[in-house]
This record gives sequence, C-alpha cells and structure tokens, in this order.
Amino acid sequence: MTCRFLFAACAVLLVCAAGCQDAADPPAIDGELAMRYAQGNYDLGPRIYRTEGAAKSAEWIEKQAIEMPGLLESGGRVRIIGPGAVKNVEIVIPPTVRNTAQGDDCDFIVVGAHHDTKRLFSVPDFAGANDGASGVGALLAMVRTCVEYMQKRPLPCGIRFVFFDGEEALYQYTETDGLVGSRAYVDMLAKNGEKDRCRAMVLLDMIGDRDLHIDLAGNSTPALAKLVMAEAEAAGHADKFSPGDTAILDDHYPFLQAGIPAVDLIDFQFGPQNCYWHTGADTMDKISAESIKCAADVALRTVWRLAASGFKDLPK
Ligand SMILES: [Zn+2]
Repeated sequence: MTCRFLFAACAVLLVCAAGCQDAADPPAIDGELAMRYAQGNYDLGPRIYRTEGAAKSAEWIEKQAIEMPGLLESGGRVRIIGPGAVKNVEIVIPPTVRNTAQGDDCDFIVVGAHHDTKRLFSVPDFAGANDGASGVGALLAMVRTCVEYMQKRPLPCGIRFVFFDGEEALYQYTETDGLVGSRAYVDMLAKNGEKDRCRAMVLLDMIGDRDLHIDLAGNSTPALAKLVMAEAEAAGHADKFSPGDTAILDDHYPFLQAGIPAVDLIDFQFGPQNCYWHTGADTMDKISAESIKCAADVALRTVWRLAASGFKDLPK
C-alpha cells in the first residue's frame, strides 16, 4: 500500500465519519416505543388549540424530552415556544460534526408533526389517535433514535423536531385560523435570521393508520418528494408510498411559502371513504406500531441522506 493510497483511504474514512448512511445500518425507530408515546399523548384527552389541553400536551412532550436518555447530555435542547397562546414544542439536536466555517450557525432540517387535536362539537372528548398522537409518537421515537444513531454516524447539520400547536382550524382554514403554530414558527425563523439555514422540512401527519398508504401531498417540493420515494423503496416500503397529486393545506405549507423545500407524509384515507377522520372512530385501536415505524423510518432515512450529502439534491 503506497502512502498515496493510505491518504486516499483516510480521506474516505473522514468523509464517512461526517455522515455516511451505512446501507446496512440505516437509522430506524422503535415502533413499540413510538406507540407508547402516542398512547401517552392520546391519554391526555382533547388537546385543542387555546385550551388547557394543548398547554398540557406541550408540557407533556417537553417532559418526555427532558427524561429521554442522552438527549440533554449530548447537547440537545427542548423548549416550548409561543407567541401568546401558541404552544409549539421544539427539540433541537445539534450536529455531531462541527462545521467550523458555520460555527453555531449551522444548517438544519425541521421534522414536524402537530400535537393539537380538532375541536369537534359532536365528539367533545375527541382525542385524535391518528390525527395528532401518531405524529407525536413518531417524532419522539425519532428523537430517541437520533440521539443514539448520531454517536456512530455523526451528522454535519442540526435537526429540529417541532411539535406544532394549532394545526387544526377552530372553525375553518383562513389566514388566521389553522396552521397557527407552523406559521408562527416560520415567522420566528425569519425574524431570527435563521430562515436561510433551514434547508428542508419533513412533515408527518396521520401516519399511524393500520391500513397505511402514504400519498405525499401534491404541493410537496418535487426534489424532496423524489428523495422520500427513493428512501421508501430502499427501506422496502415502496408499496406503502405514492408521490400523490393532491395539494394539501398542512403544516408544511408555511415553509413552502417561505421558500423552504418541504414534503408532507400523510395518509388521507383513514378508514373506508376516510370515515374515521375527525370522528369518534379515530381511536388507538385504528393505529399500529408498524405503520408509525414505516413512516418514521422513511422520514428519518430521508433526513440523514439529505444532511450527509450536504443537501446536494436540494441546492439553495
Ligand atoms: Zn385533523
């Protein structure tokens, strides 16, 4: 072996240390753990925006993060963010490879889900197992995986897991009703001068359906949707994903409006003719650990691939 070859081999090793996704060991969540988190969130009961239920849900998510092994010890941070009645929860995972050129101002990806539930006058105790709790369970389990996985597969960018409040409209979607938490979060990024460092947004919504089939929202950024489809294929879940052609108003939308590439992983066929959606039938027996794991694993693989490649598939 010549010195030159040795140098080349070292260079490859260094590049891999900066975030190669090992095909034999991609990031994957514990589906049962995600289900336990979903159950815990569901058991809080209704979590309607501007009510004590949503405030309690935010505090509960914050507590799960604080108690998560290794999160705070590895530099992770958690906080509840307003303004006002908005109770978004943000869990920040800093990069494990420091980009000295960027310092603390590193690029990051947002992974989102909403934690509020729909106000249903006909079902006052509506607690949204799929429409709410499944995304919360997925994200908390993803945080847990990231903390462990980043020790062996360092990542050169940050990940921010954001649990949005006020996704559901109290009456109907308008400029000020619905998507309240995600709009407030994007406004905050713009005000703090962080918007340009937010390189992508991956949203999970209604991903727990036992009969899972995710149609990516048709207004997702095409290059990002393509990456998700490729990772679904690589994960062996190609049959559970379609590119989708229906635009959906969801928490990825304020990010798109701000020019941030975004994709929405959503299964908007919940029960025959979507009859479980926003009804008393959206209960824990309708969702499964396997479905949450399927969606979360594909989302996490996408995040890792994007970050590890230096966002080459999503140029600024
Ligand atoms: Zn909903």
